[in-house]
Amino acid sequence: MLSKIQNTFILIVDDTPKNIQLLGTVLKNVGYKIIVASNGIQALGILEKIKPDLILLDVMMPDLDGYETCKRIKESEKLKNIPVIFLTAKTQPEDIVKGFDLGAVDYIVKPFNSSELLARVKTHLELKFNQELLQTLLNFQRDMVLMTDGEKVIAANYSFLKFANCKNVEDFNLKYDHIMDLLEFEVKVEKNDVSKLLRLPKEEEFKVKMKRDNGEYLIFRIKQNVIPEKEVSILSLVDITQLENQKSSLEEKASIDELTKVYNRTKFQQLFKNILEENQVNPKSLCLVIFDIDHFKKINDTYGHNKGDDVLVNIASFIKSQIRMSDILCRWGGEEFTLLLVGSNIEDGVKICEKIRVQVQNHPFIQDRQVTVSMGITHYLPNDNLETFVARADNALYLAKRTGRNRTERN
Ligand SMILES: [Mg+2]
Repeated sequence: MLSKIQNTFILIVDDTPKNIQLLGTVLKNVGYKIIVASNGIQALGILEKIKPDLILLDVMMPDLDGYETCKRIKESEKLKNIPVIFLTAKTQPEDIVKGFDLGAVDYIVKPFNSSELLARVKTHLELKFNQELLQTLLNFQRDMVLMTDGEKVIAANYSFLKFANCKNVEDFNLKYDHIMDLLEFEVKVEKNDVSKLLRLPKEEEFKVKMKRDNGEYLIFRIKQNVIPEKEVSILSLVDITQLENQKSSLEEKASIDELTKVYNRTKFQQLFKNILEENQVNPKSLCLVIFDIDHFKKINDTYGHNKGDDVLVNIASFIKSQIRMSDILCRWGGEEFTLLLVGSNIEDGVKICEKIRVQVQNHPFIQDRQVTVSMGITHYLPNDNLETFVARADNALYLAKRTGRNRTERN
């Protein structure tokens, strides 16, 4: 046995002094420490001060019988994990079942056989010790660890229970019908598939989101180990929220133009590719606009580069506020921008450009000076790639510049 007999306390509860003496002798002979109570009420009194490792509980006692005493022990958060073995002269199945229903781990029929008694006591002490050892090992893990049958939680460590704001596993299972109620998989998973999914050895790692009681979402990498013959999964959940946030802020940095906060050219190319590949849009209703700020060099020369930057920022955010969510605005470079109109044919596209152009012309970006844009627009043709698409729009912009600026040309 892993735990020391000398440090093991057993509470004997029996109203017959002779029974206490007999039991006590057998247990003391092998080294157990004995505490005795002659009835249920006395036993509960003792249990308020001392927490034994195991309780041997007589069933037939005056006042508070063994069943009621056991019920109260199992109702107590502090005492419920102490194994209770009934000592009974009753051998009717219903009496035995009643004992188990009340939370007893075993029963011993009186008059008892010493070797059998010792064997059963030892077994249940070992079981309790192993459970405590498992719980200690689980709690020792800083990451959240839990065991599940794919539906309910069987065991969980302190980190997990703390996250779920539950006192213990029973509490968790009362609060959540299904473990899926807490976990949100990145991949959409139906509840019925979870038990299957949690036992899928091929896909051992998942990313899940979990919501705290305060509504805050955290992201976890969830790893599972399956014990197939037990139909049980051990899950460990590593908090990767910070890492994920860093990743998305890096991704954002890599895709956003630092000055104007609209997409940069790299991101634009990627989004364009996605749109064509994923067939998200009918290519016949895809227009590309290239526009730039007229005489931008003069603005910089007259008002300084800071003011020039302000104009870039304000024009970008002004136009962004004028376009649809599905349209994609990008700073192409310098004072040049591209705008992908998703879902517009060329006629509608020209109208949109004209509307924007007039709004820019009428907007006071700089005091006492009108800021205008020239725009070139084209629509997508079969076999276009980004270069040919851009080149056509660029030609249209060139035409707009050459024919007087502050105008829209189509190609
Ligand atoms: Mg009795």
